[in-house]
Amino acid sequence: MKVLRLILGDQLNHQHSWFDSKNPDIHYVLMEVRQETDYVPHHIQKVVGIFAAMRNFCEELRDQGHQVHYFTLDDAANEQSIPDNLDKLIKAHQINLFEYQLPDEYRLDEQLREFCQTLDIQWKAVDSEHFYTTREELGDFFKGKKTYLMESFYRHMRKKHDVMMEGKEPVSGQWNYDKSNRKKLPEHVDIPQRSSRNHDVSELADLIEQAGVKTIGSMNPSNFQWPITRREALADLDLFCKRFLKSFGDYQDAMTSRTPFGFHSLLSFAMNVKLISPKEVVDRVVDHWHQYEQEIDISSVEGFVRQIIGWREYMRGIYWAKMPDYAELNSLDHTNKLPSWYWDGNTKMNCLHHAIGQSLDHAYAHHIQRLMITGNFALLAGTDPNEVDQWYLGIYIDAIEWVEITNTRGMSQFADGGIVGTKPYVSSSNYIHKMSDYCKSCHYSQSKKVGEKACPFNSLYWNFYDRHREQLEKNPRIGMIYRTWDKMDHETKEAILQQASNYLDHLDDL
Ligand code: FAD
Ligand code: SF4
Repeated sequence: MKVLRLILGDQLNHQHSWFDSKNPDIHYVLMEVRQETDYVPHHIQKVVGIFAAMRNFCEELRDQGHQVHYFTLDDAANEQSIPDNLDKLIKAHQINLFEYQLPDEYRLDEQLREFCQTLDIQWKAVDSEHFYTTREELGDFFKGKKTYLMESFYRHMRKKHDVMMEGKEPVSGQWNYDKSNRKKLPEHVDIPQRSSRNHDVSELADLIEQAGVKTIGSMNPSNFQWPITRREALADLDLFCKRFLKSFGDYQDAMTSRTPFGFHSLLSFAMNVKLISPKEVVDRVVDHWHQYEQEIDISSVEGFVRQIIGWREYMRGIYWAKMPDYAELNSLDHTNKLPSWYWDGNTKMNCLHHAIGQSLDHAYAHHIQRLMITGNFALLAGTDPNEVDQWYLGIYIDAIEWVEITNTRGMSQFADGGIVGTKPYVSSSNYIHKMSDYCKSCHYSQSKKVGEKACPFNSLYWNFYDRHREQLEKNPRIGMIYRTWDKMDHETKEAILQQASNYLDHLDDL
């Protein structure tokens, strides 16, 4: 029997049982297609990173003796669509069985299922063997429940997979050290060196440009830093454990113009394209901690583990429990356009200038920059969640819809009405000032709510709560905010709302 197996660009999993044995009748295929480069404008580093990792993966499989077909973007035989290329190969090689790994994105899942219905040969979908959970697991866990509380799912995961447990209890008796993960980065703390990897990806960059693919962001093609092989991803994991883990917990939420990366792991791209698995990451980090328990505080390790077996698996579960309706949700009826400076970073607001600037330069911003700077502002500005989604889906190297949309539409924009977050993540400038060094060199005045150069976050924050009062005031986590608003005198409130209205009328000029 002749078999064709499809490997998508985010399924570069060397550990998959598909590759346990070699068989000349099994054909593998990877393809660079316009279907994938064009569904949103992606960051140039994202397109290059995925294609480069696919090319290496293909070479490694060939070296191991597997038979692999590879369509480059400029291949004359490339139909630029996954089903069309598959059709071609099935006919050319007299394939009797088509197999694919379950995709992580709904649109690809639908496309491949529809494609299989057109086949007159057998077909089979298999697990991608990457995640801790199945697609349905979270939905089953919360069956019949009104809320999908991440913390209860996280504790279930810790117990089920025996991560940092002593019998049925968490090691040290405490499940969550979130409160220890909120320090500002002091000036005297040095940030260790990252790896000095510098791939030359000029050829690939030229190919993408010549093909006319529309991309965003910038890149130095002779100095590409992201991992594009499993070996490099493992080296990054090792480096994270040795140099960054120790301070990860303390400064996880800190933002600074001194560094785009802080103490973060930068492992999301490698994990999302499956060069390494979440279990490998968690096991390595916990092992490292056991080895150096005297030096590394449990809050750092728990804070990191929670992101992976908690948030990452939780977001995937929400995605499969709620798609496709999730992609349409807009609970606050927001319809504004995203300010134009989201695409070039040219704003006088220093926090946004930095968060957007580094996203354009590196295809990276860490979680709090995404949530409390770019996401926060988009929400305060009443931006259409479709616009916000498109931006996040394009700009980050790790942006794949299952984890992007749940974070953006759910956690960041509250467009799901509270499935992911129990209240909107908005803040005035106080939070940004507390957690960053951005405000001290800003054009705007952080402490001012009204008047010339008043920080836009301050009036927009109150405007947001005022205009969504009907929907939000009954939320027990928000009542306090309305009590503070109600205590302000009429003139103060009017001035704040007027200031916000002026800003909203001139968003592109901020
Ligand atoms: P670290 O801070 O080192 O964390 C370790 C790992 O934990 C990450 O690599 C990631 O796999 C996981 N993780 C942490 N937070 C989350 C989370 N909220 N959801 C899922 N996994 C998490 N992450 C993506 O992988 N792709 C996205 O497209 C994406 N879009 C986001 C959009 C918004 C609006 C927000 C608020 C967050 C988004 N995140 C996304 C989550 C998070 O910001 C990134 O995973 C993280 O910044 C990646 O950098 P890192 O590897 O250095 O992470
Ligand atoms: Fe951002 Fe306002 Fe601080 Fe400027 S003053 S950096 S706009 S929070």
